[in-house]
Amino acid sequence: MSSDCNCGCGDDSMGLAELFGSNVFNDRVMRERLPKETYKALKETIQKNVPLKPEVAAVVANAMKDWAIERGATHYTHWFQPLTGSTAEKHDSFITPTDDGGVILEFSGKQLIQGEPDASSFPSGGLRVTFEARGYTAWDCTSPAFLKEDGDGDVTLCIPTAFCSYNGQALDKKTPLLRSMAAVSAQAIRVLRAMGNTTSQRVTATVGPEQEYFLVDREFYSQRLDLMTGGRCLFGAAAPKGQELEDQYFGAIKDRVASYMKDLDIELWKMGITSKTKHNEVAPAQYEMAPVFSTTNIAADHNQLVMETMQKVALRHDLVCLLHEKPYAGVNGSGKHNNWSLTTDDGINFMEPGSTPESNALFLVVLAATMKAVDVHADILRATCASSGNDHRLGANEAPPAIISSFLGDELTDILNAIATGKKYCRKGSACQFLKIGVDSLPDLPKDNTDRNRTSPFAFTGNKFEFRMLGSAQSISGPNVALNTIAAEVLDEVATRLEKAKNVNAEIQNIIKEFVTKHGRIIFNGNNYSEEWAKEADKRGLPNTKNAVDALKAFVTPKAIKLFEKYKVLSKEELHSRYDIYVEQYAKHINIEGLCAIQMVKRQFIPSVIRFTTDLGTSIAAVGKGATVQKALLDEVSTLLESAAKKVKKLEEEVAKAQKISAVDKQAAAYRDKVFPTMQSLRGDIDALEGVMPDDLWPVPTYSELLFKL
Ligand code: ADP
Ligand code: MG
Repeated sequence: MSSDCNCGCGDDSMGLAELFGSNVFNDRVMRERLPKETYKALKETIQKNVPLKPEVAAVVANAMKDWAIERGATHYTHWFQPLTGSTAEKHDSFITPTDDGGVILEFSGKQLIQGEPDASSFPSGGLRVTFEARGYTAWDCTSPAFLKEDGDGDVTLCIPTAFCSYNGQALDKKTPLLRSMAAVSAQAIRVLRAMGNTTSQRVTATVGPEQEYFLVDREFYSQRLDLMTGGRCLFGAAAPKGQELEDQYFGAIKDRVASYMKDLDIELWKMGITSKTKHNEVAPAQYEMAPVFSTTNIAADHNQLVMETMQKVALRHDLVCLLHEKPYAGVNGSGKHNNWSLTTDDGINFMEPGSTPESNALFLVVLAATMKAVDVHADILRATCASSGNDHRLGANEAPPAIISSFLGDELTDILNAIATGKKYCRKGSACQFLKIGVDSLPDLPKDNTDRNRTSPFAFTGNKFEFRMLGSAQSISGPNVALNTIAAEVLDEVATRLEKAKNVNAEIQNIIKEFVTKHGRIIFNGNNYSEEWAKEADKRGLPNTKNAVDALKAFVTPKAIKLFEKYKVLSKEELHSRYDIYVEQYAKHINIEGLCAIQMVKRQFIPSVIRFTTDLGTSIAAVGKGATVQKALLDEVSTLLESAAKKVKKLEEEVAKAQKISAVDKQAAAYRDKVFPTMQSLRGDIDALEGVMPDDLWPVPTYSELLFKL
């Protein structure tokens, strides 16, 4: 878009190019505002990961403060990502009192690079006892500082930071992400060097996360305790219309939603978030936003901001943005597609087939290596997407299944298989050929052929892999920590072999052959939703872990501990703390849902149903003999009412029992095996009652209202 394009962004109608990144202390601003030497030193820190000198930090801090104050900021915050999955910020103002009773505005280098929030209320999973409550935040200068605008002109300078305990243990999601990026870069560079590359200096894991979400009218939302407390409907009979007409996906965007999306784009663009694509999703009232990809840590920071901004902007439009994985039973849930690739600082994409024999060799060995990594660590990838919310998608009848497999498309699969078996590669319309690594060029791969299968959890899509298991509400950090680390491990193996090899191309051929033979079981190009696939996957020995409580165990297996410790991404203690926190979060979420269900049933549904039975009783008395319909209805309603009353009592007992269990894993299992099924069964009765109750007596908005009245 041209720089003078008027995007109608508020009163001042700033052009889009001017607006984009206007709230970011980005490279352009740094170059403008920092002395040359300081700029150079900071860039070196950012690129080479060398420590920032205090005198440099002081100059940067001052420039940052002036820039922020000019834009209306009064406060700064170290913005971080604790293990709760959301973001945290504690605002400090720039003011420092002076002797004469006034104030000056100050922001020191030390305040920029380190903070010490009292962190005792953030989950640490036993890593930090309360008397050592201090946590430390440290500036991640690879992710630019930005301004956040809240409410009426409240502007805060946000400094993206990592959050650690006194002795350096990670208490957040950013620290291991940065460590994993360093790990994969180091091993990927070794592979390149072994293959004769002398120019690339760094390899960056890049990510483009597509974010799905629902919108609901704020008025309806505020009448549903379940949506307000847990983000999903615990009750609700299906609307007459769902998504069966497939008329929502990519359909024309309603005005109200379009105006929301426009506002959202503007807010995101100001913060330098490259919101690129927006469209209607499959379910009614479901939408998607995708940014242009960036480095993993920036993508992770931005995705947190995207989720936060989506919710904030919605309120301005009297809407609520639901990020829960499954707000409504019976229609599609929401996920996140994590597009992931590895690219060098001089532009070589490891996942790009390329057109020369050399680039083909790198691509094919990386492809085979990725198959091995995903096969060996499928359990870890699954664990990184495990949550009570995502259980409604993975393992239920919806995209993708809990079984991890990888889609490569027929051409690539045939090519890998031809190399693995030493046979000729045959393609329709051209002569069969042996593919000799480093000598032959790959045939052109038709791009869209690789992107047809939308059911695969881990699909190759032309120049990247798309990991599709992520839940819509989760941070993308965990899955990318895993992707980077498992890639580091297998690239380490490849590099070690290539460094020793007399003939590198022959060794690549051997590696591909070995990896494909041993790990080719992970490749599946068919329909991942089919029952046949579940059976076939079982035969192949692929894990199919349907619930979060079991899936999370993969974080603390000896295999996982060895992997993450070897690449210095997470220690055994850090892994155990994460496991404990996530399992506990599962239990807490189901506990909240259980309590909410009890309250809604006892205080809303049962009283309404009783009112209806009274009406029916009155009618029967008045009408007498002819009241056959009323009598039948009264029977039906009374039976359901009695059943619901019993089940709510049982739910109360199960919740009370689960609450008393002290071991986190046993407690979570009780919530999964006892509380959740009781809740589901109770829902059956309530939803059946909704089907026979008069509209004006039903105490909460229905699916029709929630999904279609926008
Ligand atoms: P889809 O067809 O899956 O809806 P989109 O075009 O909406 O695809 O999203 C694809 C995402 O993949 C975008 O965020 C895009 O920037 C990202 N992407 C493209 N190339 C790369 C890459 N090399 N590394 C990581 N992400 C990438
Ligand atoms: Mg996608």
